[in-house]
Amino acid sequence: MTEELHDKYEAVIGLEVHCQLLTQSKAFAPVSTEFGGMPNTQVTPLCLGHPGTLPVLNENLVRYTIKMGLATNCGVAKKSIFARKNYFYPDLPKGYQISQYETPICHDGHLDVTVDGEVKRIGITRIHMEEDAGKSIHDQDPYNTLIDLNRAGTPLIEIVSEPDIRSPQEAYAYLNRIKQIVQYLEICDGNMEEGSLRCDANVSIRPRGQKELGTRTELKNMNSFRNVERALEYEIRRQIRLVENGGEVNQQTLLWDANEMKTRQMRTKEEAHDYRYFPEPDLPPVMVTEAMLDEIRAELPEMPDVRKQRFVDEYGMSPEDAHNLTNDRYLADYFEEVVDRVGDPKPVSNIVLTEVLRVLNDRSITINEFPVSTERLAELIQIREDDKINSSAMTEIFNEMLKQEKGAEDLAKELNLIQVSDNSFLEPIVQEVIEDHPDEVERYKDGKKGLVGFFIGQVMQRSQGKANPQLVREMITEKLED
Ligand code: ADP
Ligand code: MG
Repeated sequence: MTEELHDKYEAVIGLEVHCQLLTQSKAFAPVSTEFGGMPNTQVTPLCLGHPGTLPVLNENLVRYTIKMGLATNCGVAKKSIFARKNYFYPDLPKGYQISQYETPICHDGHLDVTVDGEVKRIGITRIHMEEDAGKSIHDQDPYNTLIDLNRAGTPLIEIVSEPDIRSPQEAYAYLNRIKQIVQYLEICDGNMEEGSLRCDANVSIRPRGQKELGTRTELKNMNSFRNVERALEYEIRRQIRLVENGGEVNQQTLLWDANEMKTRQMRTKEEAHDYRYFPEPDLPPVMVTEAMLDEIRAELPEMPDVRKQRFVDEYGMSPEDAHNLTNDRYLADYFEEVVDRVGDPKPVSNIVLTEVLRVLNDRSITINEFPVSTERLAELIQIREDDKINSSAMTEIFNEMLKQEKGAEDLAKELNLIQVSDNSFLEPIVQEVIEDHPDEVERYKDGKKGLVGFFIGQVMQRSQGKANPQLVREMITEKLED
């Protein structure tokens, strides 16, 4: 697709994001939401849709949703009601999903995202509470679809954005922001690959400058942030090409196929559901008092932007470093725990932003799965700060700590890496290196001062990496200068 066509059209995107909440029990039944249990062991007659069963609202569903609303600058309704969304599917034995329709609990918020250094405000239309359906299992029995209802009734929030997003990159940034916030609030683990965060993307195009929105399609089945970005890129191109060739966009739902890297049609508007929403008669309206709001406000943790600014102010780091450390709440917690032990933030941010992040990236793991505890990392930094080891020994010990549970100082001794700052040990080695390299000595004396690095390297090698390089440098220059 040429740049020119991208300049001619503008993409319009709105996202619907579902987050599975980390409550202990289900939205309307006192049974565990824990993941991974044997199928159909976490069910009550209500989850099975037995007649006569009545839902009872889990208060934490309300509290968690309000937290998200406050963190995204939403208004919170004093009174909102639940509604039944009716449809038939085998994983929904009740024949309806309890959701909210006309009166969502949170409304009219916004989030700021940064793309290419520019801050962009994305409106949030609403956040409402609902329950999840069960799971259909297609790959266990050759003839039948099996149903697991453990997930049926797990609490969800749906966050609906305004059609304010203008590019796949903005959509990515917005999603990342939502993930960051739910993790900071500890209301959802934000894992898109595992389905605890899900996103449907609505997208249309229009000639640049046109006010009126174009006909949209809805994209589903994207199970990673990258796939949302890719699917949107694909769909925007498809729509532009279609319109350029004289066609029209049909309102339809498309499924993203991550292997084929393209979308497939799921249903058209004619097949679109009519959910016959009506107020849920078995649940009273949700009333939110001022006192409850104050209480929840007081429970809100330090949010990412505030924490980032504090890192800049308190630790004197660059905004970029502060961003990289606070983007993931758990990484920021890890960093601060190490700083508490070591005192000086500088050597801590140095190693966390380089070695630690490198390992997380290489292994595709989160900081919670990182094998070196804050206590052990602090010890490593401490022995380096105390000049007991040099910087290359530090890297070597760090790599060893990934494999062994041992402490840094024990490993330093075991690997014979305790730094030698003892002149009487180093003196003969320095002397030997100088005698072995008369040519280099001559060139050094002729003005090639850069060769000092070569001599230091030689001494480091002959001392098996144990020499204090600063001291070696002093000894060499002293000897060669006279
Ligand atoms: P539905 O009732 O079909 O779910 P909504 O009006 O709730 O539709 O909108 C769903 C999402 O689609 C919202 O995030 C909204 O911003 C977005 N959206 C609505 N119209 C358009 C459009 N023409 N182009 C892109 N996104 C749109
Ligand atoms: Mg919708």
